[in-house]
Amino acid sequence: MFSLIIPVYNEEGLIVELAARSVKALESFTTNYEILFINDGSTDSTLQKLIEVRKHHSRIKIIDLSKNFGHQAAFTAGLELAMGNYVAMMDGDLQDPPELLPEMYRMIKEEGYDIVSGKRIGRKGSRLKITTNLFHFFFKKIAGIAEIENSGNFSMLNRAAVNALVQMKESIRYLPGMRSFIGFNQGHIEYVREARLEGEPKMTLGKLIVLAADAIFSFSKFPIKVCLFLGTFGTIIFFFAGLYALIDKMLGHSLFGWSSTVLSIYFLGSIQLVFLGVMGEYVYRIYKESQNRPIYLVKKFYDAETE
Ligand code: UDP
Ligand code: MG
Repeated sequence: MFSLIIPVYNEEGLIVELAARSVKALESFTTNYEILFINDGSTDSTLQKLIEVRKHHSRIKIIDLSKNFGHQAAFTAGLELAMGNYVAMMDGDLQDPPELLPEMYRMIKEEGYDIVSGKRIGRKGSRLKITTNLFHFFFKKIAGIAEIENSGNFSMLNRAAVNALVQMKESIRYLPGMRSFIGFNQGHIEYVREARLEGEPKMTLGKLIVLAADAIFSFSKFPIKVCLFLGTFGTIIFFFAGLYALIDKMLGHSLFGWSSTVLSIYFLGSIQLVFLGVMGEYVYRIYKESQNRPIYLVKKFYDAETE
C-alpha cells in the first residue's frame, strides 16, 4: 500500500485538479494506494469539495481536523494515520508537482534510499524566495543538519522512516528538520518549485516566522550561544572600561559624566531584556512540551469504514 498525504486549508479552488493529478501520478506506478487529505480546519467549502471528489475516487480518504492546527500538525496527522509501506508528503497547492512521485518511488525502490526529498533548484513566482533561502543557509550552519538545504515538506519515506518520525512526539514541530534528524539513507530529487496554482498562500508571514523560530529553537542552541558570547564580550569590555574609569578618577580627572552613566544603564538594561526574552522562549517551549497536549484532534475520518 502507498499513502500520499496532503494538508489543505481553504483550498476550495484546487481540490478537483489536485485530486485528479495526484490520482493520475499514483496510478502510473501502483494500484494499491490511498490519498489522505487532511482538512486543517478550513472555513471555505474545501471539505464539501473533498467529499464530492471522494465519491469518484474511493481511494481518497479525508481526515477532518477539529480546527486549524497548522500545516506541520496536519502533516503529522497524515503520517500517523497513513497505512502505506511508503508514504509521500505533499503540499496541497500544487507547488510540489505530483508528477515527481513515480521517480521518487523508483529511487526508493531501486536506489536503496529510505527517504527521498524534493530539493528546490528554483522557484516560480514565489514570494519570500530570498528569505527562505537565507533561512535554510543559516539554519544548516547553526543546526549542523546537512540535508535541510532547500528542501521543505515534499518527500517520500519508507515505513521504517515513517515509524521513526512518528515516534517523535514533540508538540513544537518542524518536520523538515525532524526528517533530517532521524538519519536513514536520504536522497534528493531536484525540481523547480511551481507558483501556487490558485489562491493566496495559507502560510502567512507570521506563521512562517513562527516556523523559523521553532526550527531554530528546537534544533540548535544558537540563541543561547549568542547570549553567552555577548555576555562574555560585554563583561570583558566593561571590566576594562571600569578599570579605566577608576584609574581616571584616582588621577583626579572625571571623564565620565551624566551621558555615559545613562547610556551604560540603558545598554545593560536592554541587553538584559533581550536575554530574558531568549530565556522566555525556552521556558515557554519547555512549558508547551510539558503540557503534552495532542498535536491535532480529528473530528471525523472519512475512510471506507465510516460510510
Ligand atoms: N496549510 C495547512 N494549514 C495551515 C496553513 C497551510 O494545512 O494552517 C496547507 C496549505 O493548504 C497548503 C500547504 O499547507 O496545502 C502549504 O501552504 P502554503 O502553500 O500556504 O505554504 P508555502 O507554499 O507558502 O510554504
Ligand atoms: Mg505553497
